[in-house]
Amino acid sequence: MRERIFNFSPGPATLPLPVLEEVQRDLLALPGVGASILEISHRSKTFEEIIQQAEANIRALLSLPEHYHVLFLQGGASLQFSQVPMTFLRATNRSADYIITGSWGKRALAEAQREGNVRVLWDGKGDNYNRVPASAELAIDSSAVYVHFTSNETIQGVQFPAEPETGGVPLVCDASSDFLSRPIDVSRYGFIYAGAQKNVGPAGVTVVIIRQDLLEQVPDDLPTMLNYKVHTEHGSLYNTPPVFAVYVVMLVTRWLLESIGGLEQMHAMNRQKAQLLYEAIDRSEGFYRGHAQPGSRSLMNVTWRLPTEELEAQFVKEAKDAGLHELKGHRSVGGIRASIYNAMPMEGVRSLAEFMEAFRQRHA
Ligand SMILES: *Cc1c(COP(=O)(O)O)cnc(C)c1O
Repeated sequence: MRERIFNFSPGPATLPLPVLEEVQRDLLALPGVGASILEISHRSKTFEEIIQQAEANIRALLSLPEHYHVLFLQGGASLQFSQVPMTFLRATNRSADYIITGSWGKRALAEAQREGNVRVLWDGKGDNYNRVPASAELAIDSSAVYVHFTSNETIQGVQFPAEPETGGVPLVCDASSDFLSRPIDVSRYGFIYAGAQKNVGPAGVTVVIIRQDLLEQVPDDLPTMLNYKVHTEHGSLYNTPPVFAVYVVMLVTRWLLESIGGLEQMHAMNRQKAQLLYEAIDRSEGFYRGHAQPGSRSLMNVTWRLPTEELEAQFVKEAKDAGLHELKGHRSVGGIRASIYNAMPMEGVRSLAEFMEAFRQRHA
């Protein structure tokens, strides 16, 4: 099949077409190099320029101040669930606060509990993880080592509209599924991590942003590969990085800067796309039931139910026949999930919204 589908996969997810075209065009021979990105040394000047450009793009997109470092690591966001508490929590007798708004936050919590004292600051389980907490619900422990939250819960489809207030306690964020989808005030954060395969590239690389004062707290007795200082000192080239994944992240971030025009523009487009689907839900007179409460609705993963599981299965099947793929919700939530990251074109979302309307008229 040569036609591209509209791919609503939660991750690895759709990538910008111009990026894929460039990868394809240059796959056999990078211009001026005569060899593939898959074949060159990570110590080559070419790759050094690629990884430096990827970092520069991320810095430009986020207006990142000098005292934040950008790392390209492996092990996925899942390794960060462990590496963060191994680094900051294990050697202290203080505790870390975790805000749990869905499945990934629970995973992060479980790993942190292996490393030290952890307090659950807030847990949305009672409402089946359909919202994020208001700041007033968070009684931050001012002596906590850090506060961890998941900016966008990919499975439940709930997203923080703004960072939780921590009163000076370093904020640690798993931003895997909304990284570079909107501008953020970086000064609010101590540490950000994001697996690339949702919104910024292929699987295999995790982007980490670490503030200088936190970097200085990194203990020396960790395994070298788990030491953020080592990776910072070596510009993420201590060992062989995932060369191809970093290359694609460089292209995706360049696309964000040059074709989209930056994160303000990207955010506006993401808001418009999400609005089309939430309007289709809200217009449906209860046929579609959104999972997330309105104030916590994700712009990246839109989740909803239908009146019966049979109709949900039929929705997924008929949508697929219409060229709208990967809409089945995660088994823990059920229903439908449309992942509409940066690279999902407006046209795909419009098709889905029209399909939703037509499906409802056939089946309501
Ligand atoms: C996908 C995802 C993860 C897990 O990422 P891996 O790279 O597979 O380890 C963690 N957190 C969030 C929010 C995710 O969406």
